[in-house]
Amino acid sequence: MSLTGNIAVVTGGAAGIGYAIVEALLEQGASVMIFDLNGIVAAEAAASLSKQYKGRVASCPGSVTSTSDLDAAFDSAEGLFGPVDVLINNAGFSTIAPLMHLTEEDWTRVLSVLTTGPFLGTKILANRAVKHGIPANVVNTSSLNYKAATNGLAHYCTAKAGVSQFTKVAASELGQYGIRVNAVAPGLVRTNLTESAGLTTGLSGQRFLERTPLGRVGEPRDVAKVVAFLVSSDAGWITGQTISVDGGNEIR
Ligand code: NAD
Repeated sequence: MSLTGNIAVVTGGAAGIGYAIVEALLEQGASVMIFDLNGIVAAEAAASLSKQYKGRVASCPGSVTSTSDLDAAFDSAEGLFGPVDVLINNAGFSTIAPLMHLTEEDWTRVLSVLTTGPFLGTKILANRAVKHGIPANVVNTSSLNYKAATNGLAHYCTAKAGVSQFTKVAASELGQYGIRVNAVAPGLVRTNLTESAGLTTGLSGQRFLERTPLGRVGEPRDVAKVVAFLVSSDAGWITGQTISVDGGNEIR
């Protein structure tokens, strides 16, 4: 597998699964723009990775909910590296609350980042790739919650089901331009998102492990390697799929 010559924008690339994806793409030879709401951490990540991958990694602050922020990241990547042909729609977060107490504000914020974000990014990537006449690739970070219902996560589960359905429609519409669109559905992965909510150690961690044949929580790299494969030409006849990366949790 080689991604030499590919130019990627990774949303939410400053931490967790996104950071591991940035590393995996760089390792395979791609150039990467880290796009993240946390501009300071993103800049630190780019500076640190630049030591090993000189001239192939940079960062841009912004929110996936803003077309102008995303456009700025694509402009910056194009200026530094050339036309973008890979987009990883990975940025995400959630709050936790039972349905009867979930606020409309939290519902809207989570849906906006998790579903509107990938829509805006994919639209920008597709229009630019078609304009440049180049094939391209999108990978969306979905979740096992695209199928599984978890109490307290009505907004998150609804959004991730949307991500996987969006993946299919985008793949269906964009295949004619040589643009593949896939998603990964991680199980419980050790990141800030899950550690800060006590998910890997608490009852939900225990429940996850009971239902998981491979018997461990995931590491960001477990997911990142699958994303790099989906972007590569080795996956050149795969599109519209949501690939579970969850230690087998989904089969039980
Ligand atoms: P994380 O909190 O470690 O990292 C998320 C990154 O996204 C952060 O750097 C954050 O600043 C950035 N971000 C948040 N909102 C943003 C916005 N509006 N615009 C740009 N950047 C933004 O989280 P993670 O666990 O690495 O999660 C990454 C993705 O993986 C998310 O989509 C999440 O839903 C999904 N996921 C995670 C798990 C898990 O167990 N960790 C499981 C399934 C799916």
